[in-house]
Amino acid sequence: MDSHLLAERVARVRDGIERARARSGRTDAVTLVAVTKTHPADTVRAAIAAGLADVGENRVQEMDDKVAELGREAVRWHLIGHLQRNKAARAVALADLIHSLDSIRLAEELSREAVKAGVEVHALVQVNTSGEESKFGLPADEALDAAARMAALPGLRLEGMMTMAPFTEDEAVVRRTFAAARTLCEDAARQIPGFGRALSMGMSNDYEAAVEEGSTLVRVGSTLFGDRGT
Ligand SMILES: *Cc1c(COP(=O)(O)O)cnc(C)c1O
Repeated sequence: MDSHLLAERVARVRDGIERARARSGRTDAVTLVAVTKTHPADTVRAAIAAGLADVGENRVQEMDDKVAELGREAVRWHLIGHLQRNKAARAVALADLIHSLDSIRLAEELSREAVKAGVEVHALVQVNTSGEESKFGLPADEALDAAARMAALPGLRLEGMMTMAPFTEDEAVVRRTFAAARTLCEDAARQIPGFGRALSMGMSNDYEAAVEEGSTLVRVGSTLFGDRGT
């Protein structure tokens, strides 16, 4: 994609993040995860050239293909989509951070694969704080118990939580979804030894609101790279 256009869009998103941080009086860092799913490896190259160091993919196979082309160390690879247990081993090998840890059975599988590989897998517990049935993620009322059980597994480092806003134009509803995830994450960090405070929330349409509600990782795709044609 055109490098000037991308540089301009990156600057605009970074500026939006900065203004949202300023409005909410935050001093901690917000990482921009560039979501390159469905785009070719060349798009990741363009992202790197534009100064982006974190890339999000939602399928293990697609991440695998891009890692094969660009190298494991080219960027920090974020797996943001639902992960099937039979792909856990590949995910452990490829991803620097898995945002979509959404069940205890998946946590057990990731733990097993991490121990086998002699590595520590870094993950965020995905919570469904919108209550939308179509969304993956642990129900809010089960999240703390589940997180405590996951945290006890070897080879797994829980850095925080991830959530997705509901499909709505109603910003108050979106903000409530983010605020609920933040509260859950703060509770988990207080109650569970080793549980971190990273919060992955916010996409193209709502990343500024997410930053105001405490997001530390925004996952932005179409605003940077254009429509995916889906
Ligand atoms: C596709 C995707 C994004 C990015 O969405 P945009 O609206 O294009 O910014 C973020 N998070 C997840 C989990 C996604 O699947």
